[in-house]
Amino acid sequence: MIAGLIGGVGVAGLACVGGYHTMSPTSQLYGRTFIGLGSGSRLLALTYDDGPNDPYTWRMMEVLERHGVKATFFLIGQYVQQKPEIARALVAAGHAIGSHTWSHPNLIFTQVTELRRQLVQTRQAILDATGVETKIFRPPFGARRPATLRTVRAFGLQAVMWNITCYDWKAKSAEEIVARAERQIRGGDVILLHDGSHVRMGVNRSRSVEASDRILSRYRGEGFEFVAIPEMMERQLAISS
Ligand SMILES: [Zn+2]
Repeated sequence: MIAGLIGGVGVAGLACVGGYHTMSPTSQLYGRTFIGLGSGSRLLALTYDDGPNDPYTWRMMEVLERHGVKATFFLIGQYVQQKPEIARALVAAGHAIGSHTWSHPNLIFTQVTELRRQLVQTRQAILDATGVETKIFRPPFGARRPATLRTVRAFGLQAVMWNITCYDWKAKSAEEIVARAERQIRGGDVILLHDGSHVRMGVNRSRSVEASDRILSRYRGEGFEFVAIPEMMERQLAISS
């Protein structure tokens, strides 16, 4: 979750530390990250952070299954350790999973040795739970600096950001989340939503679940195709090669 850190006081407070580009999800200044395909594409990617979260990750999976869609979940390592059966179910359903660190620290203020520890622990927890070795990573709060991205790459992970923020963690209703998404979606987008919260397990994400259902109904109806991040990356390569 990036509550309070992007936009408003958070950015002002962090700007004096690392500059705006450490927090802007689409900035490439501090190292290349994947942010989608650019408008004109008919592909869209739903991405969910801060799970696994009981029971909302299950509900999100039900919605995705009903639409026959694969999405991407960036998992917090310590929650995977608590709820390995949810991580396993995500993989069994064909969704992509990625690392979102062990305990969701702000990586602008995290030493490289600590980041390495977080990456190792999370990789192991996901491997133990699912048998899958993660290849993609999303920094908590979207916060990163050059050393962060170098360390992440050295682990064989690709950093995935997003270009559409729905602020679902502070929305009062599903309508509010959908309206924010609709104002921004052009095609080729990576949409940030949350099935969990870094604050604790069990945080209510029913609004994000309902918003996902509506976003899927509308854009699938308009002929857009929802894919998981690895597939979106592969199709990008196919287009550019
Ligand atoms: Zn997060």
